[in-house]
Amino acid sequence: MITLPHFSGETAVFGLGRSGLACVDALLLAGCDVVAWDDKPTQCEMAAKRGATIRDLTQDFGQPARLIVSPGVPLTHPAPHAVVVNARAAGTAILGDMDLFYAGLQQWRADNPQHHVPIIGITGTNGKSTTTALIGHMLAHCGWVPQVGGNLGTPILQLDMPQADAKTAYVLELSSYQLDLNETLACDIGILTNISPDHLDRHGSMAGYVAAKQKLFTHGTSDMTSIICIDDADSAKMASALAEQGGRVIRLSSTQMTADVHVSVDDLSGDGETLMRLEFMASLRGLHNAQNAAAALAVGQALGLSLADITEAFIGFPGLAHRLQPIDRFEALTFVNDSKATNAEATRHALAAYRNIYWIAGGRAKDGGLEGLENSFSDVRRAYLIGEAAPQFAQQLSAMAPHVDYVESGQLQRAVFAAADQAVADNLDEATILLSPACASFDQFDNFEARGDAFCAHVASWKPQQGGGM
Ligand code: ADP
Repeated sequence: MITLPHFSGETAVFGLGRSGLACVDALLLAGCDVVAWDDKPTQCEMAAKRGATIRDLTQDFGQPARLIVSPGVPLTHPAPHAVVVNARAAGTAILGDMDLFYAGLQQWRADNPQHHVPIIGITGTNGKSTTTALIGHMLAHCGWVPQVGGNLGTPILQLDMPQADAKTAYVLELSSYQLDLNETLACDIGILTNISPDHLDRHGSMAGYVAAKQKLFTHGTSDMTSIICIDDADSAKMASALAEQGGRVIRLSSTQMTADVHVSVDDLSGDGETLMRLEFMASLRGLHNAQNAAAALAVGQALGLSLADITEAFIGFPGLAHRLQPIDRFEALTFVNDSKATNAEATRHALAAYRNIYWIAGGRAKDGGLEGLENSFSDVRRAYLIGEAAPQFAQQLSAMAPHVDYVESGQLQRAVFAAADQAVADNLDEATILLSPACASFDQFDNFEARGDAFCAHVASWKPQQGGGM
């Protein structure tokens, strides 16, 4: 647990999920007065048991000195949450858990000036978790003690404090929602993997979304290293602006040979020289993973790791569940779970990574639906559409790619059985049953993990011919 300084005055915590409860724990341990609220009574009970005062902050805000809100609480769009309105009216500072974390770490740093404990922050529309996990894996392989968390896995305040006798680094996945709240966190190394339209309902517009991502760099240390993949216009603009301000920027690109690290499916290179070949890295398949590898490589080099150690670490990277995860094989069929592909851009990379694809897509569509995938269907044998988005995707496919065969399967199980039976009937020498939905999961599942788990279960229960060859 991160040890916080004592804050005087009352601290309000709104939203008592895992990260909110971690805030309550850390604040109480530091001897602070904590008042907490969540719409769910069970969560309030948990905070009360820990020793927080429970008060409905939407009705009776009082005069807390600061308000810590969960990242899910809207600050501006579609409308500011009632608690945010109350805080603004009372002149109360609104912060996130990363601000508390930073206060704790700064205190430790002041007490231990001889130790360098870098904070590595990772954001981007896609690739955050993979890049975060890969950096954590690389650092552990090279003898560091990485503390990995944030948006991925462990809430930031549940990470351990640095160890004085070990090389600790914080590797933090930061979503746009979290960054929107960031008032203080200054990273030593910041990574932006890419930006494409996502979460626009929450940020109001593309400009609002980009501005939230920008906050990774706003408070950066004076010698911050910014690692940015410049293959989209917004990221390229951000890299240029940071460089113009005198920042140290490492540019990654698959299209510009002059970038500091040039990325291709086969290798990473710099100054025309190959830095690393990617062919043995089974969990880093596809150009998008090559980009993630390039970002991790740049971090490794910034921290002084040797290329040989970094390469060895990447070869042993096990990958993450639900991201282009090969889960099973049947004769020439490979079943791939890419449930985490919740937008079209992520699916675009998946469709480019395999041949003879029986593609399962759909769920709750994002703005634009399948837009951006116009040129991605050359290896799709048939699409199996599920969930709320099925009729919309059917229409979009007919309009943008009339040659692509599709069926509206509705349910995931039906889609899996039909796709697998069809692939067996087609008898190709290589085929992929790919769940890469390009949609959120919330219409049929609790979250993308539940959707991916259901896919795995349906694959395990499939027997040839069960689906009737739809
Ligand atoms: P995030 O944490 O940003 O959602 P993940 O690493 O969990 O990112 O990957 C989410 C989805 O995006 C997966 O389908 C994955 O295959 C795809 N993806 C991963 N890295 C990238 C990238 N650099 N560019 C585009 N898509 C990516």
